[in-house]
Amino acid sequence: MELYSGYINKLVDELAALPGIGNKSAQRLAFHIIGMPQDKVNRLANVMMEAKANVRYCSQCFTLTDSDVCPICSKPGRNHRLIMVVENSRDLAAYEKTGKYDGVYHVLHGAISPMIGIGPADIKIKELLDRCKGDVEEVILATNSSLEGESTAMYISKLLKAAGIKVTKIASGVPVGGDLEYIDEVTLSRALDGRVEL
Ligand code: ZN
Repeated sequence: MELYSGYINKLVDELAALPGIGNKSAQRLAFHIIGMPQDKVNRLANVMMEAKANVRYCSQCFTLTDSDVCPICSKPGRNHRLIMVVENSRDLAAYEKTGKYDGVYHVLHGAISPMIGIGPADIKIKELLDRCKGDVEEVILATNSSLEGESTAMYISKLLKAAGIKVTKIASGVPVGGDLEYIDEVTLSRALDGRVEL
């Protein structure tokens, strides 16, 4: 027996499948959406579809962007021989906010995590290696200090060093298991300044 409405159940199921949203929050959101004026619901549905249809990976650094090459890669004055490797676009944004970095980035879109079946081929490591065939002076590893982030950094470092590329890693001081996006700009700048060669 449907307790209230099949449509609401469907909506709750879809919302509950999103990360960080439990069943209770999903129900609250579903009822909120049903109570919204029609034009607002349309707008919400439209921005989701537009974002999905138009957001793509930058052809150089693989961050999420609206154009073929992202604003950072296409900005004059950025040092394209310095590449900072981060796990996701949110980490990129955190470093970019410090205003202290003039190199470019490489977004992996994840970290190696055998426990949940994510191997090196599932993130943008091959793309990084391809980029490093060009004129690259230094690769800075700025993956998270979680177990997955550390093993990803180690994996990449081995490959790049074998290819004769200088590899550095941002200094610790970034709390273990901490997501870069939650760390303040001063700590990030210090971590960047204190990077060590591997
Ligand atoms: Zn880019």
